[in-house]
Amino acid sequence: MNVREFYRMKTPLQEKLGLFETTFGDGRGKRFALVSGLHGDELDGLYLSYRLAKFLRAWEDSGKPIRGQVSLIPVANPLATAAAERFWPFGQIDVNRCFPGRAGDEGAPFVWAGALFEHLKTFDLAMDVHSSNLFLRECPQVRVVEKFREAVEPYAGQANVDVVWIHDAPTVIETTLSYNLNAAGVPTLVVEMGVGYRIQTQFVDAVFRGVLNLLMNLNILSDALDEPVKKKAIYATERNVRYLNSDSGGFFVPEAQVGSTVRSGDRVGEILNALTGEVKEPVVSKWDGYLFTVRAHPIVYPGSLMARIIET
Ligand SMILES: [Zn+2]
Repeated sequence: MNVREFYRMKTPLQEKLGLFETTFGDGRGKRFALVSGLHGDELDGLYLSYRLAKFLRAWEDSGKPIRGQVSLIPVANPLATAAAERFWPFGQIDVNRCFPGRAGDEGAPFVWAGALFEHLKTFDLAMDVHSSNLFLRECPQVRVVEKFREAVEPYAGQANVDVVWIHDAPTVIETTLSYNLNAAGVPTLVVEMGVGYRIQTQFVDAVFRGVLNLLMNLNILSDALDEPVKKKAIYATERNVRYLNSDSGGFFVPEAQVGSTVRSGDRVGEILNALTGEVKEPVVSKWDGYLFTVRAHPIVYPGSLMARIIET
């Protein structure tokens, strides 16, 4: 194991801001990178990185080989993570809209993004781990842009996630880390799970097994899992994803869990009125399918997204 700072930026007041990476392996084989924390409010990737570092350290200590390289970059946006904010604090910039970055003095987050991109584009496979925001809870999923489907889909199927969501790219996606890495020929999985500002350990456990499965398939590790991952992800596309929005405002108490199947007419939860003790609106699925997103923030306005269902 080797922990090193691969990029350092000086802030205007001469404080130092570093990109840190932990690497494992003998360098003679495929190279895999795990990145998280581009959004500072998304914390599941920290725990995933911890789980992998702990596992790989024990693996190394027991004398077993790690062929090629595994790199862990758990805190890709340290200013935001330290401030417990989503964006680069100075200027509220979304770093995941700054890729592939720019050289020179075009703005710190762009220079930062450029350094991270240049570093990662030498890898064979990357995983960019995100959690959801404060509002929605997501089951573990890989999001794949249609344009890169051919290169990414085989890996997505090995990642032990519940859902693979294939979608078309809105223009803004062209400035994300994953889009630029995929365009540069580095297959990159965007993993999304849980909810912002929280760690959902059972979801991280599932993706942890998925990463070990990928490392076995890349021949970086052998026999890291007793048996390979067999879970078949459910596919979400523009054709089968359904959005359930609220009609009224109030506060929401969920009843159904993300990752469960629902039938048309099943309750996902209720929107309540705290003053009168009344149910303002039962939130009811209009479809048979798989519930892969459920509202996490209790305060809702009319039109709020309450759930996403993959119709089956
Ligand atoms: Zn994110």
